[in-house]
Amino acid sequence: MRTRWGTCNTRAKRIWLNLELAKKPTECLEYIIIHELVHLLERSHNKIFTKYMNEFIPKWKFYKDELNRLPFCHTDWNY
Ligand SMILES: [Zn+2]
Repeated sequence: MRTRWGTCNTRAKRIWLNLELAKKPTECLEYIIIHELVHLLERSHNKIFTKYMNEFIPKWKFYKDELNRLPFCHTDWNY
């Protein structure tokens, strides 16, 4: 199993965050929280998901790149 920044269990409406995020800039933590919350509205990474992300955190691509430069990555549980 790969290390995750965060996971979202849409059925249980539960979000888990990797505590390693505490060491990252607050904006990155915010990005992950919003990302996981958007999964409660839209389960997959589709156009609707992107629309919500643009709405809630317009600079999300920047924070995503910031986190992708690091060894961990975000993946989702599939329910
Ligand atoms: Zn996701």
